[in-house]
Amino acid sequence: MNLQNSLPPVPVIDLQAQRRRLEPALSEALQRVLEHGRFVGGPEVQSLEAQLAERAGTSCVTCANGTDALLLALWSLGVGVGDAVILPAFTFAATAEAVMMRGATPFFADVSEASFNLDPASLERALGQARRSGLKPRAVIAVDLFGLPADYRALEALCEAAGAALIADAAQSFGARLDNRPVGSLAPLSATSFYPSKPLGCYGDGGAVFSTDAQVAERLRLIARHGQGPGRYNHVTLGMNSRLDSLQAAVLLAKLTIFDEELTAREAVAKRYDEALAGRVPLPPRAGGAFSAWAQYTIRHPERDRVADALAAAGVQSAVHYPKPLNRQAPFVGQPVVAGGVPVSERLADEVLSLPMCGALNEASQARVIEALLAAV
Ligand SMILES: *Cc1c(COP(=O)(O)O)cnc(C)c1O
Repeated sequence: MNLQNSLPPVPVIDLQAQRRRLEPALSEALQRVLEHGRFVGGPEVQSLEAQLAERAGTSCVTCANGTDALLLALWSLGVGVGDAVILPAFTFAATAEAVMMRGATPFFADVSEASFNLDPASLERALGQARRSGLKPRAVIAVDLFGLPADYRALEALCEAAGAALIADAAQSFGARLDNRPVGSLAPLSATSFYPSKPLGCYGDGGAVFSTDAQVAERLRLIARHGQGPGRYNHVTLGMNSRLDSLQAAVLLAKLTIFDEELTAREAVAKRYDEALAGRVPLPPRAGGAFSAWAQYTIRHPERDRVADALAAAGVQSAVHYPKPLNRQAPFVGQPVVAGGVPVSERLADEVLSLPMCGALNEASQARVIEALLAAV
């Protein structure tokens, strides 16, 4: 048996390494919540919202998960039946689910080969096409795929001209920056997720919405708390229950103490991959002025499945985000797609492969990934 196969596999993300590093502070923080017993709306939630708001330079409302964060953002704008929301076809299902949960129509545009994010030219065509078909293009959701902020300067101008609201699906990009502005402040509304494998993840589900307008934030909070207030059992608007619980807030507060180090470590891992893989496979997109949160380090290869099998045989895990564009996923088939289709999304779905990526990926493990990949390609 060769040495490589006798080593434990290299996981795509190693959550346990970070957990061990944060002990005993993490256990103490969880114990404090168990002792005070304010499991919903405890002091940890307020502290967390204050810290997140400060990082983003905006208002912040935490909620139950990233999908709810998107839903709440659309809800706060009053997006509903008869409205179209334009979004990239190459994203996770939640982006389109939130639109349909509001009764609105998801309208799929293509992504750019250079960024894997919403292509402004495709967005412009989709806005015109939606209007001509009798739909009101009320909002655009830009996704910061794999942690890289979308091209907000270009998207903002197009949205403004079309009278559409711009929402950032920042589920994968909290911690990233564009032109030195933090994610959370790049669009009027930004939705993020604290799902365990996201760059800032808790130990269950969690999410947050950021708003550059404090009044909109209060409306978001009202909707996420059963439309209740002022006072108890006084419901002033239709709402729902979407809250981050105190235990998850305690986890996130502990993780925030080392989050900047985590981001720096991810950037270093990405640089080492870039240096070793340049010229052998197409490297992940980078964008001028952007600092990615590196939710994923994603390469492309025309024989992606064969490469993934070869990596697995060498004890290296990998993942495909995502194997199909959303316009070909059952719940969204038949929803409008920009004229000419989404050829870049189609191609990426066939070719992308995400390699192990997290701050705890040490050089020895990364060398195994690189060696296995170079051998396979
Ligand atoms: C993870 C993710 C979401 C949803 O977040 P959850 O917390 O899992 O609900 C939405 N959009 C994108 C792009 C994501 O990656």
